[in-house]
Amino acid sequence: MDVLDRTDLAFPQSLPEFQQLFPDDAACAAYLERARWGDGFVCPHCSVVGEPFRIATRPGVLTCRACRRQTGLTVGTVMERRHTPLSTWFWAAYLVASQTQGMSAVQFQRQLGLTRYETAFGILHKLRAGMVRPDQDRIGARAGEHVEVDETYVGGRTRGEGRGVHHKTLVTAAVEVRHREPGTAQDKRKDGRYAGRVRLSTATDRSAASLCGFVESAVMPGALIVTDDWGGYASLRKRGYDHHAIAECGDPEVAEEFMPIIHLVFSNLKTWLNGIHHGVSAKHLQACLNEFTFRFNRRFYPFNAFRSLLGIAGGANAPTYAELYSGDWRHPTCSGCLH
Ligand SMILES: [Zn+2]
Repeated sequence: MDVLDRTDLAFPQSLPEFQQLFPDDAACAAYLERARWGDGFVCPHCSVVGEPFRIATRPGVLTCRACRRQTGLTVGTVMERRHTPLSTWFWAAYLVASQTQGMSAVQFQRQLGLTRYETAFGILHKLRAGMVRPDQDRIGARAGEHVEVDETYVGGRTRGEGRGVHHKTLVTAAVEVRHREPGTAQDKRKDGRYAGRVRLSTATDRSAASLCGFVESAVMPGALIVTDDWGGYASLRKRGYDHHAIAECGDPEVAEEFMPIIHLVFSNLKTWLNGIHHGVSAKHLQACLNEFTFRFNRRFYPFNAFRSLLGIAGGANAPTYAELYSGDWRHPTCSGCLH
C-alpha cells in the first residue's frame, strides 16, 4: 500500500502533537521503520522476516538477527549519509512544509537550535530541492473532471523602475476542476467546483507552439480542456484534446462563470510571489512555480508534503537521495524563496 494512505502513520495537526509524536531520534527511527515495513522488518539482504537488533546509540541502523548485516533506515531518502540527528531532519521538514512564506537559513538555524550555519543551509537546500523538483505526471486523467488552461504575466517589479510590462514573465497554468459531493458545503459562486492538481510553467510567448506545447507536457491526452478563445489554443483539438474555447473571456463575469478555478490559482500565485522577499527574478521563477505547485497540490494533505520532503513518501513524487544528487538532476535554486 502507498505510504500516503497508511492510517497507522499519523499526521500531527499541531506543534505539540508533533513533539509528542517525534520526541527523539528513536521515535523518528521507529516511524521510518513503520513507513518502510508496515508488517514488520524484512531483511533486504537475506529476506528473513523478524525483529531486528536495534542499537540505542545508532537509531538509524537495524541489524538482522539471521545474517547480522545492517540496514540503514535513511537509505534512499534525503537524509541518507547525513550526520545530523533524525529528529532535526523531522523538525526541519515540518518547518519547511508548514511555513509557506519561506525562511532564511539563519532563521532556520535559530529555530532548529543548530550551532553551525552550514548545517542549516545544507538541510534547507536539500529539503527545498524536493519541493522545486517538478512533479512529472500529467494531470486531468480523472473521468468527470475537466482542466482549465490560461496564461498570465507575473513579477516585473524591479526596484526604481516601476512596473514596466517588459520585465514581466509569462506563466502558463493548467488546473484540474473537481466537483464537491452534493450535500457538502459549497461555494455557490463556484457551483461546487474546486481546484485539483495544478501545473505551472514559464513561457516564452503566447504562440500556439508555446501554449499547446505546455498543455501537451502538462495534461493527459483526451482530457476536456477549457480555455479562452485566443488563437494560440486553437490547435488543441488536433493535438488530441477535447477543447472548449470560451468567447468573451475578457469580461470578468464570463471568466468567473467559465474559468473560475484558474483565476483563483493565479490570484493565489501572485499573492504568494509578492509575499516572498522583493519578488522573484525571471531566472528563478520556474523554481518558485514548482514550489508553489508542490504546496498547492498538497494543501489538503500537509503531512504528504512533510513525507515527500524527507523522501519517505514512496511513489513517483518522492525524491530520493540518488535522484536528487545524481548528475542528471541539476539542483535548481531560487534566491527569492528560501535562501
Ligand atoms: Zn538478514
